[in-house]
Amino acid sequence: MPSGRVHNLINIAAYSVLAAATLVASRQELVSVTSVQALNFTLAYAAGTFLLSPDLDLAEGRVDSKRHWGILGVLWVPYGMMFSHRGLSHTWILGPLTRLAYLAVMVALVVGLLSYVVPTLKLPALSGSLDVAVLAPFALGYYLSQWLHLIADGVRPDHGLRRGYRKLDQSGLSRMGRSLTGKPGRARAGRSRRR
Ligand SMILES: [Zn+2]
Repeated sequence: MPSGRVHNLINIAAYSVLAAATLVASRQELVSVTSVQALNFTLAYAAGTFLLSPDLDLAEGRVDSKRHWGILGVLWVPYGMMFSHRGLSHTWILGPLTRLAYLAVMVALVVGLLSYVVPTLKLPALSGSLDVAVLAPFALGYYLSQWLHLIADGVRPDHGLRRGYRKLDQSGLSRMGRSLTGKPGRARAGRSRRR
């Protein structure tokens, strides 16, 4: 299984090829991509590669994508406890959504806490319309970055569908329980070595 660094290199290489191909294709007027669309795609792709990698399911240990969050990396520890490595987190459709949903909950908690502590705080409102032309490049960039990771891991698109999703499964929740009670868990021991 590739390490976080190798995953990053694969994604960077794929991005370079795609960017070059898109540039050539748009020169020849085969495709038309606006600079805003290209930027949105790139931002989502970079976020998916460096900040929201499927290997955050190892965030209770040391993992590349957690390190990129700096001090905020600690916010991903519960995610690592909830999701077993290469379980639901490594599925093609739902896996990437679990990280977005988790991030949304974390942002909501931080915003909630901030507005409780500083009631006069004015938060910037989300502006602009969220139509397909805006959302599609984000979704494409994010999902492509995730799928390249899964392909490199050798995870097939029907992963989890054949056996049923094992996670959020009993072992993950009981592992979280064990961590909270401070008891060592057998299941945790070998996990941090795998990526
Ligand atoms: Zn992985």
